[in-house]
Amino acid sequence: MEKQNEASMGTKAVWAGEKEVLVHGATQVPVVVSVAYNYDDMDEWYDVAVGKKKGHIYGRNTNPTVQAFENKVRIMEGAEAATSFSTGMAAVSNTLYTFLKPGDRIVSIKDTYGGTNKIFTEFLPNMGVEVALCDTGDHEAIEKEVEKGCKLLYLETPTNPTVKITDIKRVAKTGKDTGAIVIVDNTFATPINQNPLKLGANLVLHSATKFLGGHADALGGVVCGSKELIEPIYHYREINGATMDPWAAYLILRGMKTLKLRMKEQTKNAKAIAKFLQAQDLVEDVFYPGLETHTNHEIAKEQMNDFGAMMSFSLKGGMDAVKLLLPNLKYANRAANLGAVETTYGPARTTSHVECTPEERAAMGIPEGLVRISVGIEEEEDLIQDLEQAFAILKEKHASISL
Ligand SMILES: *Cc1c(COP(=O)(O)O)cnc(C)c1O
Repeated sequence: MEKQNEASMGTKAVWAGEKEVLVHGATQVPVVVSVAYNYDDMDEWYDVAVGKKKGHIYGRNTNPTVQAFENKVRIMEGAEAATSFSTGMAAVSNTLYTFLKPGDRIVSIKDTYGGTNKIFTEFLPNMGVEVALCDTGDHEAIEKEVEKGCKLLYLETPTNPTVKITDIKRVAKTGKDTGAIVIVDNTFATPINQNPLKLGANLVLHSATKFLGGHADALGGVVCGSKELIEPIYHYREINGATMDPWAAYLILRGMKTLKLRMKEQTKNAKAIAKFLQAQDLVEDVFYPGLETHTNHEIAKEQMNDFGAMMSFSLKGGMDAVKLLLPNLKYANRAANLGAVETTYGPARTTSHVECTPEERAAMGIPEGLVRISVGIEEEEDLIQDLEQAFAILKEKHASISL
């Protein structure tokens, strides 16, 4: 295990966390489907049940396949402990509900993932938690709110869907100075491109449904941090029951073996597409942290190993133009997910922020015609040619839109 900790990220993605659960000389992690575990020795059963001895009791608590997944992410994020969930939103909500009680205060940013934003605007206020949401990227505003006192500081960077960047090191320091627990949703960057714990965060979480799994065929979530912080989150989850399924754990583990290869290719393609979009007359805006025109390009360069595969753009003519462009793309899923090997396009108003009203989206700085792209692993030339032909069709028909 120590050796794996010293390995580079691509090697960890392949090897880390698996050895402990291999059986019969198998080279691959088994899918342990058993819901319960047998003990002939009542004393041993008791010791495992109270945590004195390693082992498994019941599938809602722990499972060997799920544990291998937790350990792989934990090692890649450089954390002491990790626990997993049925979905990314379960990771977000269980983590928040573990620490927040009526009268507490949380500071976050306006454009977190749509579901997370709903927790901030609907569920937390309902349970008497005060939520302060700052303009994303406004570091002074975040620092000011944190200094007023808060239990949690919750960040997401890069954000969904406008790919804004927050300086983790800078605001995590303010969090630390004021005693707040600093949480970062690292779904977009993945451990390959960003390690928030190394930048001063206390907890890092992922929707494993996205890049970690990479094949859009399994839901999952995970949170990593110190033992002290993970233990109560694990306890909340084992009792409330948002447990990861072992089949999902297996699929995501398998996906993670190629995480580094995928991220490398997807990031390369994303850079090419961002440049292509920037050169189009009909494109109003392109949001990609790898572009020098991006507001926080310098921060992204500093805290990320690379800029990732997520971007968004808006078209002149808004949603009417989007309706003319997206159906003509050949190598594209028009779908709500992201992080898959296939390139995926989705307007924010039907994907990440479908839960929000147009007014709420406008308040978050999300144009109605904003399209998010999760760039896949296809050949760069094919993706660009595909966009070229779709933009040619858009150009022909664009005059029909009343601007
Ligand atoms: C998708 C996503 C989530 C939620 O994950 P699910 O697995 O869909 O529940 C949380 N945060 C970010 C940034 C996401 O993209």
